[in-house]
Order: sequence, then C-alpha cells, then structure tokens
Amino acid sequence: MKNSTLREQLAEHLQVLAPLGVPRAWVNTGGDELILEGEEEVARRSNAQVLSERNQELSDEYSSFNLEELRASALVCTKCRLCETRNKVVFGVGKTDKPLIAFVGEGPGADEDKQGEPFVGRAGQLLTAAINKGLGLTREDVYIANVVKCRPPENRAPLPDETASCTPYLFRQLELIQPKVIVTLGQPAQMALSGVEMGITKLRGNWQTWRGIKLMPTFHP
Ligand code: URA
Repeated sequence: MKNSTLREQLAEHLQVLAPLGVPRAWVNTGGDELILEGEEEVARRSNAQVLSERNQELSDEYSSFNLEELRASALVCTKCRLCETRNKVVFGVGKTDKPLIAFVGEGPGADEDKQGEPFVGRAGQLLTAAINKGLGLTREDVYIANVVKCRPPENRAPLPDETASCTPYLFRQLELIQPKVIVTLGQPAQMALSGVEMGITKLRGNWQTWRGIKLMPTFHP
C-alpha cells in the first residue's frame, strides 16, 4: 500500500479489533488485494486470484441446478451489460455426459451471437478442423463453451465484472458435464478457470487441474 499513514491507521485499528474477533483486514489497492494482520502484511493476492476465489464462492449460486435449469437461467440472464447488446445467449454445445474434452473459449463473436452456438465463425472453423483432423473426433463428441455467454461489443475482451458475472454458469456447466479434460483456448479462458495471470505462451502445454479435472491451456484458434 502506497499510503503508509493509512496502513498505520489500519494496523492500529486492527489491534483494537483483534480481541473482538476481527484479526484481519483486506484492502483493495486497485492492482491487488493486501491482507493485513495486526502490523503484518500477511499476503498479497493478485486480482486474478481474488477473482477466481470470488467466482468459486459465486458458483455455489447454481449448485442445485441441472444443465437445463442452468441453460434456462443463462438464456434470460441480465447480470451484466452484455445482455443489452446480445442477439442470442451462447450457452454451449456438444456431449454433456462426461465428454473426453470440454473446450472453453473467451466469448461469442458476431456469428456465434447470430446463431446461438459457440465457435461457428472463422475461429470455429479452425477449432472444428482441429477436432476433426487433429483428434479424429466430431463436435458432437466434445463439449464447447465460452467464459462469457453473450458477445462483447466489437469483439472486445470481456471486462472483469462481465467475466465474474458469467463464470458461475461455466463452473456449474463443467461440474455437471465432468469432462475428462478441459482445454482452455487463450489467456482469458485460462485465467477465468485457474486465476493464474500469466501469458498463455508460458502456460500452454502445461497440465493443471480445475476442481479435480485435468486442464490443458492452449492458444485460441
Ligand atoms: N471465439 C471464442 O472465444 N468463442 C467463440 O465462440 C467464438 C470465437
């Protein structure tokens, strides 16, 4: 924290609060979140970690939903500004019972927004070719979804609050379909699931896990 007076005041305040059962304080400094305990800085968590932890809490919101209930809820979702400009909500397609792979992209583009199906435009043609020719599978053998279910205008990257509103849908989708492997396509998808704010070039090809499911980060097509 840059403002040391504020920091000292907070530390003092915590000394009063600690005997009352409030041993810690979280301070959002803009770039990251600082955890203070008494006079100590306990840890510094990046925005990505904070986002991912909050998303995990939020995903409980849908913990009793089955896939149809989840889809129905997403189709009428107004939790963020993307609902104002979307044509169709793009929920997800493919095999919903333990597919070998679930591909997770960033968000729908113009073609997806028109058709209500993920990866049907130019990037989709590449992904479909990789599924067919590279893996010897069809789109129906795998599951395909995005981090955000509504198209960000002008194909811009989804904003953090849009991602935070939408990832509970993705988390519940993945929990319900239980793919053998999740493949994240590009950095935003990777970050939404792992909370790791690192370039995809470094992470690509390195196995991770998401809630017990193997996860492989790779480039966006
Ligand atoms: N890019 C994505 O990330 N998702 C789509 O559905 C289409 C393009």
